[in-house]
Amino acid sequence: MTFRPTAVVTGASSGIGAATARALAKAGFHVVLGARRVDRCAEIAAEIDGTAVRLDVTDPESVSAFAAAVPDCTLLVNNAGGAKGLEPVAKADEDAWRWMYETNVLGTLRVTKALLPALLASGDGHIVTVTSIAAIESYDNGAGYTGAKHAQAMLHRTLRGELLGQPVRLTEVLPGMVDTEFSLVRFAGDQDRAANVYRGLTPLTADDIADVIAFAATRPSHVNLDQIVIKPRDQASATRAHRA
Ligand code: NAP
Repeated sequence: MTFRPTAVVTGASSGIGAATARALAKAGFHVVLGARRVDRCAEIAAEIDGTAVRLDVTDPESVSAFAAAVPDCTLLVNNAGGAKGLEPVAKADEDAWRWMYETNVLGTLRVTKALLPALLASGDGHIVTVTSIAAIESYDNGAGYTGAKHAQAMLHRTLRGELLGQPVRLTEVLPGMVDTEFSLVRFAGDQDRAANVYRGLTPLTADDIADVIAFAATRPSHVNLDQIVIKPRDQASATRAHRA
């Protein structure tokens, strides 16, 4: 049997994470899929000969147990995350902000710290972090999410310097609008409000992002794609889009 390096994908139960797990398996990785809805991960794992392990990135014990179940790791895709709500700062919901910081920022920190020894030991590690154009822009009513994504990006970009001289590459992927469960989660299951986000334009698909992550992961070891911003043709910025 041919050797398959191990790739860990967090938030692999839906959207970008699920598509990335499939793309990386196709590129020759053994993929470990982590998320809270582990049943969904297990279905994808069965399809791609991968491994599903329950993971709640907001829970330190869950992250430790997850890392203990991953014997080796060459590629880590920090993808678990999302937004909750769209309110002005004056009406900010602290619980929603706490969720966004715990999931996007501290979740990325916990998983990265837990798997860094294995990534270094691999001799050819790679950390891909899915931030967002919200990590380079601000927009009205979005401070909870843009703040969390900026903080997540700072963690990732700081590591790029701290790991200089070590055998670990760092790639930040910054998507614009991608049609996943993202807006459904943001608007607490409100289907109409979620669909309205993508009204009149062609958004990116999860496969579009997965494709780019697999491309970055399969470059030669000395090639580091630092930052990749991906938007639909119809979207110029977080606040400017063309709608038919
Ligand atoms: P999605 O379909 O809602 O997927 C989010 C994933 O994160 C799910 O698999 C979810 O799994 C996981 N997750 C959430 N909380 C978690 C936790 N506590 N522990 C472990 N996993 C957790 O949305 P998506 O668009 O694919 O989002 C993936 C990433 O892309 C996020 O970081 C998001 O911020 C970023 N992004 C999305 C867009 C967009 O327009 N869609 C744009 C830019 C950036 P469980 O619920 O099963 O745990």
